[in-house]
Amino acid sequence: MTPSIAPASALPAGTLHVPVAIVGAGACGLVTALSLRNAGIDCVVLERDPQPSGSTALSSGLIPACGTRMQRALGIEDSVALFASDIAGKTHGTAAPHLVQAYTRAVGPAIDMLAERHGLDFHVQEGFLFPSHSVLRMHSVRKKTGAALVGYLERAAQAAGADIVTEATVRTLWVDDTQRVHGISFERPDGSVEHLACDALMLACNGFGGNAAMVRELLPEMRDAPFAGHTGNDGSAIAWGRALGARLADLGAYQGHGSWATPHGALVSWAMVMEGAIQINVHGERFHRETDGYSEAAVKVLAQPGGVAWYVMDDPLLALARSFPDFVAAEAAGALKTCADAAELARLIGGADPEVVARSVAGAPKRPLTAPFHVVKVTGALFHTQGGLDIDDHCRVLREDGRPFPNLLAAGGAARGVSGNAVWGYMSGNGLLSAVGGGAVAAATIVEMLPS
Ligand SMILES: Cc1cc2nc3c(=O)[nH]c(=O)nc-3n(C[C@H](O)[C@H](O)[C@H](O)COP(=O)(O)OP(=O)(O)OC[C@H]3O[C@@H](n4cnc5c(N)ncnc54)[C@H](O)[C@@H]3O)c2cc1C
Repeated sequence: MTPSIAPASALPAGTLHVPVAIVGAGACGLVTALSLRNAGIDCVVLERDPQPSGSTALSSGLIPACGTRMQRALGIEDSVALFASDIAGKTHGTAAPHLVQAYTRAVGPAIDMLAERHGLDFHVQEGFLFPSHSVLRMHSVRKKTGAALVGYLERAAQAAGADIVTEATVRTLWVDDTQRVHGISFERPDGSVEHLACDALMLACNGFGGNAAMVRELLPEMRDAPFAGHTGNDGSAIAWGRALGARLADLGAYQGHGSWATPHGALVSWAMVMEGAIQINVHGERFHRETDGYSEAAVKVLAQPGGVAWYVMDDPLLALARSFPDFVAAEAAGALKTCADAAELARLIGGADPEVVARSVAGAPKRPLTAPFHVVKVTGALFHTQGGLDIDDHCRVLREDGRPFPNLLAAGGAARGVSGNAVWGYMSGNGLLSAVGGGAVAAATIVEMLPS
């Protein structure tokens, strides 16, 4: 069964009713649910997997936010204006300004709400700045993984009284002539179909990174790249949007990553690059300005011979790397190699000229790297898509003519993000910014939208 639209008049009489249905139990869906429960509104989250995970669980769980109490406790001066200007700088002004404003305003209070009201143990990631961020504003739970984040959100949502129905793949939206959504149908693993009526529908089912045909159609430069996100992100939101006549926006935007350990399939954080690590190709040459960002680096790495590069660190950078659970997993999987000197490194990467390698490590941007060298072979990967349903600053899905649908909302990876329309516009954290900030904005809109 593919995502479809059906006439609301055919929704079976007596279908169970809930004020709000939410498709997808990643960060976006769960933050929406928590925010609704805080306002006393009942909601049901429908999730295709046996347990909520999504790309959120695969992520590093780093959420950029400004003006939080965790930033204040560290004396970090940040503001919506500064955060928004960092995004505008990274995207060369191409990010949708209304969403930049809405999300940067909403995400700080959302982080504080999750910490104060629901006990998530957020702290600010210290020690280095992610590319294009002017100040320290990456928040993560103490365990520093996306899996821990989604686990906390799920438990909090359940404790707050949100219903999470798993193994429920939403297939059909029941829509009337005015384009009001009256309900949804979802498919169970045994093929049976159940229905749910609702007053408002929130699409939090991420983008199309898991749909190879859509990636070929919309992001041809990434058609052969590994996809590191959640395979359940099959473009359902875009398929419904196309069937409904919704406007789509920024479909060329996505989060790539230029340091996906290969063949191990694990993330090597860009933090060490920001502290002076370099990438070299099979010839031992640096081939880009690494600190521009890891997203555009995906395309640059894929353009190198064999579509690979080597991420080179020295002892102090390796110590930093080992503070990341993702890196620890990559190392445990055998991704890390150590070379005593430039000649050994040249041999490891396939017979480069040792003098070229020596020049590259000596010319590292922050300081010369010193032997021994710690190296991971990496490739460029697609992490998640950033284009999708066009939405207004209340996260209401827009029709082709720009008018909002009456009761259809979207955010996170299901909707247009704040990265412009190309890979280079992605600033670290834009994914969870859209999911967490957008979830909070959408919930506030629904609270206003529902009859009191
Ligand atoms: C390796 C990696 C590292 C990353 N690190 C970061 C980071 O540190 N910071 C950051 O900001 N971003 C990061 N990202 C991006 C981030 O993970 C996403 O932007 C974010 O998780 C999107 O949240 P979401 O709630 O929109 O989607 P998801 O978390 O993917 O949730 C969507 C859910 O919808 C479900 N679903 C889909 N279709 C249906 C359907 N038809 N019916 C029912 N359920 C459905 C899916 O199963 C899924 O559980 C990373 C991504 C990857 C892959």
